[in-house]
Amino acid sequence: MANSKYEYVKSFELSDALLPHTWIVIRIDGKGFTRFSQVHGFKKPNDERALRLMNECARAVLEDLPDVCFGYGVSDEYSFVLKKTSTVYQRRASKLVSIVVSLFAATYVMKWDQYFPDMKIQYAPSFDGRAVCYPSDPILRDYLSWRQVDCHINNQYNTCYWSLVQSGNSPVEAQDLIKGTLADFKNELLHSRFGINYNELPPIFRKGSLIFRRKEETVVKVEEDGVPVKRLKSQVVVTHEDLIKDAFWNENPSILG
Ligand code: ATP
Ligand code: ATP
Ligand code: MG
Ligand code: MG
Ligand code: MG
Ligand code: MG
Ligand code: MG
Repeated sequence: MANSKYEYVKSFELSDALLPHTWIVIRIDGKGFTRFSQVHGFKKPNDERALRLMNECARAVLEDLPDVCFGYGVSDEYSFVLKKTSTVYQRRASKLVSIVVSLFAATYVMKWDQYFPDMKIQYAPSFDGRAVCYPSDPILRDYLSWRQVDCHINNQYNTCYWSLVQSGNSPVEAQDLIKGTLADFKNELLHSRFGINYNELPPIFRKGSLIFRRKEETVVKVEEDGVPVKRLKSQVVVTHEDLIKDAFWNENPSILG
């Protein structure tokens, strides 16, 4: 197919290679999931099935792209971190974003039935995506901390809002009651009116989801005498823990290493 007279049109394609030796973060977000979550009867404020389905889609991304070393998910969004040294798809932004977004959306539909066995998917969901480069480890960590703080703030607000609405307040009343209030007020409201101890809510709601590879002891075979043979193998794991403090990064040095 080379050297036709039409080949010159290729020169109109501009390079969109991302800056070398920087962390690449690809963040995707569900389009119109306020509606999607209503149409599909997501539990408010947090439907755990939907969050686990998102995590399953993130797993597909880590399995497809070995250079993705970390992911963080909350609500209808997921951030994927590519290693600084990665040269996959020549670091072309449009290639990377479009592959992640389409694999994620396709997996979402493919795995839907496993997470929502009683509800047929009503229409095809789509996700937007963007790629951003972060030039240093501290700035990458600040990016991820920003997302986890956002998870916390939104979850606290939404937990108050939906507790009020589900107990008979109108949406406007609920909004007026919590608008502009501080965290302590919201915690107190949850505790005194609804008997909810915020810190005892499931970590998946409060902390979001972290996905990464970790060396885990796994049974590789069983000897004839029934003794299992274990090896340390790299596994994709999902956890729901703090990523803002140093502890997580110290325990998992290979992620940024
Ligand atoms: P946009 O297209 O601009 O992203 P959006 O409607 O998706 O619009 P977001 O800001 O992304 O708006 O908010 C996501 C919406 O999806 C929120 O309304 C949130 O409550 C809902 N949602 C996402 N995941 C869940 C979940 N697991 N359980 C309940 N609701 C969810
Ligand atoms: P890349 O990821 O680089 O795009 P690729 O394997 O998708 O790799 P393409 O250059 O896009 O390579 O070529 C598409 C391939 O898919 C070809 O091998 C083509 O034969 C096959 N293919 C696509 N559509 C059809 C079709 N309708 N019938 C048969 N084969 C098809
Ligand atoms: Mg959005
Ligand atoms: Mg959205
Ligand atoms: Mg969102
Ligand atoms: Mg092709
Ligand atoms: Mg192709």
